[in-house]
Amino acid sequence: MKTGQYYKVESVPPRRLKKFMNFPMVPRVVFGNGSFDQLGGILMSKRKHSEAPFIFLVDDVFESKRLPERIPLIFNDQIIFVSANEEPKTYQVDALVNKIKEEFSDLPSGIVGIGGGTLLDLAKAVSILLTNEGSAADYQGWDLVDTPAVYHVGIPTISGTGAEVSRTTVLLGPEKKLGINSDHTTFDQVVLDPELIQDVPLEQWFYTGMDCFIHCIESLNGTYLNAFSQSYGEKALELCKEVYLGDLGPAESRDKLMMASWHGGMSIAYSQVGVAHAMSYGLSYLLGVRHGIGNCLVFQHLEEYYPKGVALFQTMREKHGIELPKGICAGLTETDLDIMVSVALDLAPLWENALGVRWRDKIGPEKLKSIYRKI
Ligand code: NAD
Ligand code: ZN
Repeated sequence: MKTGQYYKVESVPPRRLKKFMNFPMVPRVVFGNGSFDQLGGILMSKRKHSEAPFIFLVDDVFESKRLPERIPLIFNDQIIFVSANEEPKTYQVDALVNKIKEEFSDLPSGIVGIGGGTLLDLAKAVSILLTNEGSAADYQGWDLVDTPAVYHVGIPTISGTGAEVSRTTVLLGPEKKLGINSDHTTFDQVVLDPELIQDVPLEQWFYTGMDCFIHCIESLNGTYLNAFSQSYGEKALELCKEVYLGDLGPAESRDKLMMASWHGGMSIAYSQVGVAHAMSYGLSYLLGVRHGIGNCLVFQHLEEYYPKGVALFQTMREKHGIELPKGICAGLTETDLDIMVSVALDLAPLWENALGVRWRDKIGPEKLKSIYRKI
């Protein structure tokens, strides 16, 4: 361009103001049978000093198994066995944090969660509360965590929730069931070792795997869908079909389910879940119904919203001989139903994803109650 010469720049119309999510992904991941045994080396570089332990939160289903012997304990590292019989609670997180603070004068080098969604979520929450004042309940919501968590590692032993990849930790608090959604929640390291999921009982394998399947259906049929979510959701759905409808050998099936869970989690990271999840939160809040089975209990009655997905779900259920429990909501009062409806309808983004911005015109308490009564 010659100096002193000016060009007229065509005016560019301003772009629609929209805030795009800038979400963190797990920065490091190991995948492969036996990769669990690499844990010692991975943690070594993260050890601050000999007084700053690694705390391993481990599902107590492994208490009398071989897995704890393979945990690379050194110095004052500690294993804490935790039951996954109930979904994680905010007071449970607070109690674990207090225990760790009382026992160790230094902040741990890190927290390692070994188990299903319950243990992974506990590990995420504990790592956050070790560096942030107050109770876990104070951080339920979106982007309320200011200080980075201590280094935290997730090692799933059952696949489907996508908790290993998500930026949330879902907790039952005194007032609500809601995640701590923050950039500091996401794991710093994940170890995906498909051998760890080999002893999951059939029903639990189905329910937790269906969580992934339902993530895909709700994401792929949602109004928030975009190419990012679609690319992960389609892959996860394809893998779920192979695992639950194909005839893969056990090892291949485990590998693929583990990756389905990962991709399903990535898919909803940039979109949302939908009707089944919103209503399942109501079941879980009032009755303590666990996430995987709760989703299945609702999803079976959602032909109106997800016709192809529900048909596929029933085929998979029949193929594996899974009978869903009945009469769960039979004895509930109108007040009980109102509570579940209110928890479900509070989850506006899920409904907006499922039914569009005018979702309030399309669904209301009576419709939800009629679905709950079928469960
Ligand atoms: P879970 O952790 O609740 O465990 C379910 C059962 O399987 C438990 O009895 C557990 O002891 C058992 N189990 C786990 N691994 C096993 C193994 N290898 N062998 C034998 N038994 C085993 O199961 P889940 O479905 O993975 O997690 C559900 C939780 O995940 C809920 O609390 C839900 O809110 C949460 N969740 C979180 C996210 C997220 O993004 N953070 C997403 C979806 C669900
Ligand atoms: Zn889910």
